Amino acid sequence: MMVQRQREQAETHLLRAAQEFQKCMQCGKCRSVCPVFKEIGNELYVARGKNKLAEKIVSGDLQITSRVKDAINECLNCKTCSANCPAGVSPEHVVLRLRWYITTREGLGLFKALVFRQLLWRKWPIIAGAVFIGFVQRILLDIGPQNPVRHLFPLFGFSKRRNFPRLALRPAQSLYPEVIPSKKGTPVKRIGYFTGCAGNLIYTNVVKSVVDILTGYGYDVVIPKDQKCSGTPVLANGDYEGAANLMEHNFNLFRRYDLDAIVVSCSSCGLALKKEIKLFIDNCDELREFCDKIYDINEFLEKEVQFGPNDLGRLPYRVTYHDPCHLNRGQDVRKEPRSLLMKIPGLIFKEMQDAAVCCGSAGSYCLTHYETAIQINNHKIKNIQKEYVEYVATACPTCIMHIQDNLLQHHSGEKARFVVEILADSLRKAGTI
Ligand code: SF4
Ligand code: SF4
Repeated sequence: MMVQRQREQAETHLLRAAQEFQKCMQCGKCRSVCPVFKEIGNELYVARGKNKLAEKIVSGDLQITSRVKDAINECLNCKTCSANCPAGVSPEHVVLRLRWYITTREGLGLFKALVFRQLLWRKWPIIAGAVFIGFVQRILLDIGPQNPVRHLFPLFGFSKRRNFPRLALRPAQSLYPEVIPSKKGTPVKRIGYFTGCAGNLIYTNVVKSVVDILTGYGYDVVIPKDQKCSGTPVLANGDYEGAANLMEHNFNLFRRYDLDAIVVSCSSCGLALKKEIKLFIDNCDELREFCDKIYDINEFLEKEVQFGPNDLGRLPYRVTYHDPCHLNRGQDVRKEPRSLLMKIPGLIFKEMQDAAVCCGSAGSYCLTHYETAIQINNHKIKNIQKEYVEYVATACPTCIMHIQDNLLQHHSGEKARFVVEILADSLRKAGTI
């Protein structure tokens, strides 16, 4: 039996979903843009179908069966449907509300409860686990397609084909004090940095690049030690309360530091802190101020930093750019990463066809729905290969992980990297940072 508070919360999710799907005119425009529908071709998996499902659930005509749950989980939260919907519907919010409704009614399950409500708060078991895996990966070095260890992957719900990035032996946050002083004396501003778990535990070079660039240009950088997961995976997996608790924690933590701005190097964490947090904390002036201070790192550098004519060293790279959905449609940041790359002397920027089409990563979607995620990503790989580049730059760790995996599967030599890493290469080459 659900307790009263849970029942009310579940009803609120349905009500909010209804406010959204009722705007749908069933015109079917979303059928032409949804990457999942393009691969699977089933009406249940497109925004219009999901709106219809939601309508039937709200009216009580449809029970939540495993087939219904499968359809609700077949969404990348890529926001392409919203961006193209003539009626202004945000179907991904209908999907999120349905996931929250189901979880509130049915409970989280032991594994998700352990991860979202315990491990993400304690952090040390995740760090210890990540470092342990990092060691194991280095011992087993470059697990090739024939390596028998791959046969263990399905035990953890992963495809045998999957290539994983190496986890760091030392978390990025442990390399720095909480306040990292400007290298130029009196600081210009005091900037908070939300590294995200992937920056802290996998892509530590992106954290180093951000810290080096900001301190090199006269900013104090504050990396609050007690920052926790942004709530993004928790939110996408249907745990409304877990995501709300994490977002509230980070909001209360960062506002204690008297910061001029807060930068984020992961597009999904940035979206969570800039916008999605408003789904959880209502009517709060301080929250509005907080959200106004959040910047994607590319956006911040382009807006704030004047790169002098001799600051950037020559890089003979050919580079293309993939727009992460949560930066492009989620935060309206498109031209800034391209502009930063184009400032680098010697770098040839090649605009890729369909750069803004989702790569299929979508956080844990590419783990739980690997085959569809790879089918979606195959179009991205073809478009990257057409440009004959060394690097595909982007601004999202899960996009990097998924694109890099599939590049390896295609035996393609291109590497996926963060824009700020390439920028830092250039600044280091010139001796600026
Ligand atoms: S494009 Fe918008 S209005 Fe048209 S069917 Fe899709 S969600 Fe409904
Ligand atoms: S958010 Fe993306 S994957 Fe989900 S229904 Fe819309 S277009 Fe399809």
